[in-house]
Amino acid sequence: MARDTREIIKKHNIRLTKSLGQNFLTDHNIVKRIVDAADVGKNDLVIEVGPGAGSMTVELAERAGRVVAVEIDKHLIPALSDVLKDYDNVELINADIMKVNLKKIIDERLRNNSDGTAIDTVKVVANLPYYITTPIIMKFLEENLDIDVMVFMVQKEVAERMSASPGGKDYGALSVAVQYYSKPERVFNVPPHCFVPQPDVDSTVIKLSILKSPPVELLDKDMFFKTVKASFGQRRKTLVNALSNSGCFMKGKEEIKQILESMGIDEKQRGETLTISQFAQLANVFSQK
Ligand code: SAM
Repeated sequence: MARDTREIIKKHNIRLTKSLGQNFLTDHNIVKRIVDAADVGKNDLVIEVGPGAGSMTVELAERAGRVVAVEIDKHLIPALSDVLKDYDNVELINADIMKVNLKKIIDERLRNNSDGTAIDTVKVVANLPYYITTPIIMKFLEENLDIDVMVFMVQKEVAERMSASPGGKDYGALSVAVQYYSKPERVFNVPPHCFVPQPDVDSTVIKLSILKSPPVELLDKDMFFKTVKASFGQRRKTLVNALSNSGCFMKGKEEIKQILESMGIDEKQRGETLTISQFAQLANVFSQK
């Protein structure tokens, strides 16, 4: 079985498309460590985004109960079908991950459990295309899916932003959004020479353990994300200015000042110093008034 990415590329005469983020992993040890990080086992349904030449898909197929691999590039499907022909627990879907109905895919696969093994846990594992990392991650987080854990290879800076704490330069709306849904943990870094072709950036494998319940109680989730977005919207402005300039809350500067004061937040503070609890508290006040 050809597992070597370079061999597969050569055998199937694959032409890599840069605009689709096609940087394939050539280091099988890294592939194994990614799958290890997700602790994939026979009870798992694993969704892989962008199987590429299939090196990680094979590793997943050997360990998981079932694998659904969604690849946008139709030119890769013949090679993938060949690489995966010995595995009857893998399903290849030729589609844009942003357009698939994830809930339907998951619900149907969890029910159709033909070989007697209980497939009851959903995991997502992917070496993501970097041109569309955040939208893909947010789709998986926001669609209210019953996912246990997601392990992604992403650009190092994106991993830093997702896992950042309040106060630092990397903390922003992405940190809050990711940490509202999950506990992020950076697992290891991957240098460019582990890919073909080599990307211009360093990469990091990040594990997002999905929270069973949200870390904060919200009166209105939309208001929470609106507040977060407005607070980070103008990073060099103080919180009171960022919130009042956003025009999102139908409140004047004075009123916002008073709200912040009642919460014990200094009006001169910047949005990037607020914790998720403080954003929740603030959004809940906006929702009430
Ligand atoms: N998993 C392979 C590996 O690790 O070597 C390939 C990873 S490569 C970084 C990203 C893959 O995602 C490519 O195969 C690319 O064609 C695919 N891809 C890009 N955009 C996609 C999308 N919107 N939906 C599904 N797959 C996509």
